[in-house]
Amino acid sequence: MRLFVALALPDQIRWQLRLVCGGLAGASRWVPPENLHITLRFLGEVDGRDAHYVDAALAGIRAPRFSLRLKGVDAFTSGQRVKAVYAGVEKQPALQHLHDKVESAVVRAGLPPDGQKYTPHVTLTRPKDAPLKKLQHYLAEHSLFKTEPFEVTHFTLYSSEMGGEQSVYTALRSYALSVPAGVIEAAAERGDAL
Ligand code: NAP
Repeated sequence: MRLFVALALPDQIRWQLRLVCGGLAGASRWVPPENLHITLRFLGEVDGRDAHYVDAALAGIRAPRFSLRLKGVDAFTSGQRVKAVYAGVEKQPALQHLHDKVESAVVRAGLPPDGQKYTPHVTLTRPKDAPLKKLQHYLAEHSLFKTEPFEVTHFTLYSSEMGGEQSVYTALRSYALSVPAGVIEAAAERGDAL
């Protein structure tokens, strides 16, 4: 099976992202709202036994919850080709920390290391044929795009299959992030539920 580890996005963030999904010549197919996510680690084709080891290793991760905000739009390009247009993620050391823990867990489970620098993003479209000039216009138009901050409380192991028009992702298991001790104490003092 084809697997990846990712952060799901809250509904309101996915709806906000819809506002920037369109208006780029050469990009006719945009990622549907239900598929928008932040990849932590792409695993590729993994057999059942390795998937079991990966699941066990991911379940052992201890990392705190954190807050994230999406900001700006940008693109991965290769020469004159636009490979993907994405929404950026505001710098958050806790996200890099979680990524590093996921990477270590995956390698501990026996998969080869990734080795690429981690650039968190939300892919919006992989245009078939978007001219760079049109891309510049699209990026300038949405340069002020910014979402509200949202809380990341868990990460998820997904399977990915080819659908008719789009990939179909299935959440196989989610792994909770911990509530930092200071937050628990403050909530208890206020009498809030977490
Ligand atoms: P996907 O290829 O299964 O990818 C799932 C997630 O992992 C995506 O978020 C993707 O990137 C990330 N990812 C994929 N390959 C990666 C790599 N080499 N390095 C780092 N991250 C990687 O599903 P998809 O993203 O929906 O499909 C992407 C393209 O692959 C589509 O053009 C699709 O037609 C083709 N494809 C899909 C499948 C499938 O079973 N889903 C199989 C073969 C080919 P981002 O986080 O950057 O989006």
